Amino acid sequence: LEEQIRRSDRLKTIGQIAAGTAHEIRNPLTAIKGFMQLLQKSLTDKSMAKETEFIGIVMMELERVNDLVSEFLLLSKPKKVKLQSIRIGSIIQELLPMIRGEAMLHDVIVQYEEEESLPPIVVDKEQLKQVFLNLSKNAIEAMGNEGTLTIRERRRADRHGHIAVDIQDTGTGISPDMLERVFDPFFTTKPQGTGLGLSICQRIVHDMGGSIEAESEPSGTTFTVWLPFSHGSGGAVSRDDV
Ligand code: ADP
Ligand code: MG
Repeated sequence: LEEQIRRSDRLKTIGQIAAGTAHEIRNPLTAIKGFMQLLQKSLTDKSMAKETEFIGIVMMELERVNDLVSEFLLLSKPKKVKLQSIRIGSIIQELLPMIRGEAMLHDVIVQYEEEESLPPIVVDKEQLKQVFLNLSKNAIEAMGNEGTLTIRERRRADRHGHIAVDIQDTGTGISPDMLERVFDPFFTTKPQGTGLGLSICQRIVHDMGGSIEAESEPSGTTFTVWLPFSHGSGGAVSRDDV
């Protein structure tokens, strides 16, 4: 529990800093990128190969900073929360083309097990899409170059008032000591990773009164997102613009 409090404090602090600075960083970034492009143009005219290459590297690194700032913005709470009553199936259906596209690049098969009988949930659709997109991306990245991503909707008798969505992969799995840390902000095992994806997922799902669980074996990992369909102490209903 202490660990959880420490983690959520850290997340809150990062979120606050993020909210205050992300936009301020993004504006100069856009300007830098624009002038770099101009510079690149004028250099290629004079065929300065090395300088052109350097600028290419700068642009690539700028892109990374830009991605990081985007994730920072997702980590901070959105000012406008747009709640609506919607079936989880229609959210997943909207996302499937994007997930399938990403999966195809890695020769990953996507299986979707829709559960038509689930009651609608009251959520911010765009935010929830971000959650399933992040989890699917992680799943695909864990499989390298073949495997199956299964998205499954279900209910469990002992979790009243909740629906569950499993994002299951046949990837490399996560060792038990790592599994404890995957939700920590900035924890990553990827050379180009930010370690913010799961923190963002957790922030969003907690705000909706839900939770995320992870189970892993060497043969693969399942992340389960639990979402309430009746809003009791969810927190989301107390927002300004409900
Ligand atoms: P990032 O993807 O930028 O590394 P995340 O917060 O999304 O950041 O994930 C943190 C870490 O958790 C990953 O670097 C990876 O080690 C681990 N992880 C997350 N999802 C999976 C998965 N489906 N299979 C294996 N490892 C995973
Ligand atoms: Mg990720």
